[in-house]
Amino acid sequence: MGWAQRMKRALFTRGGVHPEPRKVSSIMKIFPGPNPEQVIIPLSQHIGAPCEPVVEIGDEVLVGQKIGDSAEYVSAPVHSSVSGEVTGIKKYPHPGGHDMLAIQITSDHLDRPSPDLQPVAEPLELAPGEIRVRVREGGIVGMGGAGFPTHVKLDTPADKSIEVMIVNGAECEPYLTGDYRVMLENSEQVLMGAKIAQRALGADRIVVGVEHVFPDVIRVMREAGGPFGIEVVSLPCRYPQGAEKSLIKSIAGREVPTGGLPRDVGASVSNVQTCYAVYDLFYNGRPLTDRVLTVAGDGIAGTANLRVKIGTTVSDVIDYCGGMVGEPGKVILGGPMMGVAQYTTGVPVIKTTSGIIVLRADTMLVEEPGHFTCIRCGRCVKRCPMNLMPYQMASYADIGDWDALERFDLEECMECGCCAYICPTKNPLVQLIKVGKDGLARRRRKMDSLVGTGDGRG
Ligand code: SF4
Ligand code: SF4
Repeated sequence: MGWAQRMKRALFTRGGVHPEPRKVSSIMKIFPGPNPEQVIIPLSQHIGAPCEPVVEIGDEVLVGQKIGDSAEYVSAPVHSSVSGEVTGIKKYPHPGGHDMLAIQITSDHLDRPSPDLQPVAEPLELAPGEIRVRVREGGIVGMGGAGFPTHVKLDTPADKSIEVMIVNGAECEPYLTGDYRVMLENSEQVLMGAKIAQRALGADRIVVGVEHVFPDVIRVMREAGGPFGIEVVSLPCRYPQGAEKSLIKSIAGREVPTGGLPRDVGASVSNVQTCYAVYDLFYNGRPLTDRVLTVAGDGIAGTANLRVKIGTTVSDVIDYCGGMVGEPGKVILGGPMMGVAQYTTGVPVIKTTSGIIVLRADTMLVEEPGHFTCIRCGRCVKRCPMNLMPYQMASYADIGDWDALERFDLEECMECGCCAYICPTKNPLVQLIKVGKDGLARRRRKMDSLVGTGDGRG
């Protein structure tokens, strides 16, 4: 146990930042995305084991047909988002930064649906285990960014009980408005999906958390949830309000212990689009083959909230929105705080892609990478929602002092970026913390292997 853990005070009663919201797309209704010639569907879009292909080049596939699966429990199958022919199975660029195995499908533009999954007449009468099996078959994962397989999250261990299922409607990243529009336009569907998830979890109640600056969403969600006894809570507006531990603290008043899970404090959190996907699976028989994302930024001609087929390339979406404006600076998948800048627009939209943010080179604040320069102002510490010591973790990671880093709860860092955002000397704190996590993980693997070999040093 690190000393920072022992010193931990109440989480999320402090910290966080207030970046400019820039949610100009909030007025844009959800619109269908492009009909691409080809989709590239990665076999790993989730936390857990990657899938193996269950189709071959030349196979004809239908919309919603399973094309990849895994025997591992912590995994989720992937399905075709178009009908057409499998034209490639190889490594393609992945939003995570590495090339990964994916299946390319050339569309016939007919969108012929697969009969594999059918709607369920009374999903709330299914046994919890049956719900989880179907959720797994539908390939549903957490769509708020983490990509944790939903059937695993809905599997409450025998020694735990879930008192509150929290529907995460706190879309705190700048620019992003996809969840906001889904709640506004599909409030009943989101809550019907949440009710199914509640049954699988055995949760006593459902609470929806929405930031107070969205009174229209709070109103429609209360109208839709009232008859079901679903509570809608108005939350303070700050980043990262939508982080899982932050929500649990704000809504349930409980702290998830270091290294623990929400279920350890009787809570479970699901994103609004995950709830919508559960609804779509049970009521329409559709596995997870598309999602709503926001396209925004000063480097793209059109701003939109689009329902995009999984596997559509970012370049196809950008072209669909009128193309880039000016010299491109950055293309970020996700929001600007936690999103990942891409080196190619050939990467596909995956189940966790909440936004495509295109920024112009001439308006971006470009920080030259340099030495770690800390003036010990303490702002990063004050703003860290996890009560960590970002400047110390980053400085030890910078010099590769893994022994010193072991004393900090590095794994507790959610990489929210509040520390880097507020740092006056613009230290790349999150990058350095990631380097530190990677270094510690490599060191532990090496030590484990030495113990395993019995070479006398273990
Ligand atoms: S990125 Fe990590 S260290 Fe920095 S503020 Fe967020 S949780 Fe704290
Ligand atoms: S905010 Fe930046 S300069 Fe200030 S203590 Fe943290 S790392 Fe150092």
